[in-house]
Amino acid sequence: MSTLLEVKDLKKHFPLKGQALFSKDKPVLKAVDGISFSVETGETLGLVGESGCGKSTAGRSILKLLEPTEGEVIFKGENITKHRGEKLRKLRKDMQFIFQDPYASLNPRKTIEQIITEPMKIFNIPKAERNKKLTRLLDVVGLSSYHKHRYPHEFSGGQRQRIGIARSLALDPDLVICDEPVSALDVSIQAQVINLMEDLQEEFNLTYIFIAHDLSVVHHISDRVAVMYLGELVEIGEANELYQNPKHPYTQALLSAVPEANPHRDKQRIILKGDLPSPANPPQGCKFHTRCPFAEEICRTQEPKLKKVSATGQMASCHFAEEVVNANEPL
Ligand code: SF4
Ligand code: MG
Repeated sequence: MSTLLEVKDLKKHFPLKGQALFSKDKPVLKAVDGISFSVETGETLGLVGESGCGKSTAGRSILKLLEPTEGEVIFKGENITKHRGEKLRKLRKDMQFIFQDPYASLNPRKTIEQIITEPMKIFNIPKAERNKKLTRLLDVVGLSSYHKHRYPHEFSGGQRQRIGIARSLALDPDLVICDEPVSALDVSIQAQVINLMEDLQEEFNLTYIFIAHDLSVVHHISDRVAVMYLGELVEIGEANELYQNPKHPYTQALLSAVPEANPHRDKQRIILKGDLPSPANPPQGCKFHTRCPFAEEICRTQEPKLKKVSATGQMASCHFAEEVVNANEPL
C-alpha cells in the first residue's frame, strides 16, 4: 500500500466577530487545532467524535473547500497547501466530497443528467464520453438512464444520496471524503448506501475518509478509525483493535455507549461529566480534563501528545494511556 494523503498539523481557526477588536490575541474558534494522520491508497479511515468536534471542518480543510489556517496537506506526493488556480483545480478532480444532506447539495433546478455530468463539463470532457459515463454511473449506483431527465425532488432520500455519490465519481477520483453520508437516511436505507459505497470502493479503487458520529456504521466500513475531541485527534488505530481496546478515556466513553460494539463484554457505561467545552475557549492542558473520569493534576497543565500505545501502531494522547483502567474490561 502506498500513502495517498498526509495531513500534517492541520489547523482551521475561525475569527470570532464582535469581540476584543483591538486585542493582540484576536479571539478565534479553534475548530481544527493541529491534526496529523495519513491515509493509505484503498483504505477507509473513519473520523468520529461528537458534533462540534471539528470533523467536518477537517474534511473540508483537507479538500481546501475551506482554506486551512496552518499545516500541510500532501496529496499524491504533492503539497497542495499552497496550490492555487489551475494547479489546484487539476488535483481537485482527484479529491471529491459527498455531503451529509443529499437534498441540500443537489441543485433543485437541474436534472439528474445535468447534475452528474456537470463536473465533466467543467473539465471539458467530450459529450459522447459524458453520456457514456452518465449511463454507467447511474447503473452502478442502482438507478437507470430512465431517471436522467428527472429532478432531485422526484427521488427519495436514499436515491438522492445515490445521485450525490454518482456525481462524486464522475471524474474518477482517488479520494472521496464522505461527511455523514448516511446520517440523514432511514436506518434501513443506511445499510444499502453503505453496501453500495463498499462495492464502489472496490470497483473504482477509491480511498475514503468517512466522517460520522455513528460508531457502529464507522466500525463496519473503516479499516482504521481516528477519534476527534475539540479539534484534536485523541486516538487513532486499526478499527477492530481500537474498538476492542480503546486506550483514550474519551474513546472508551464513546464506545461504552454503543451496545453492539462488543456484545460479549459486560460493559459499564461511562457517563461524561458536563458539556463539550467551547472550541473558542478550550481547557488548558489536556482538553478533555474537564470531563475525564481519570484526570489528575498534570492533566490540567500539560497537554498530552499523541503517542504509540500498541505494537500495531495504535496511538492515543493521554498522559496515562497505558495505565488508565479500561472501564470496559472486566477487572
Ligand atoms: Fe484524562 Fe488526563 Fe488522559 Fe486527559 S491526559 S484523557 S485528562 S487522564
Ligand atoms: Mg459535521
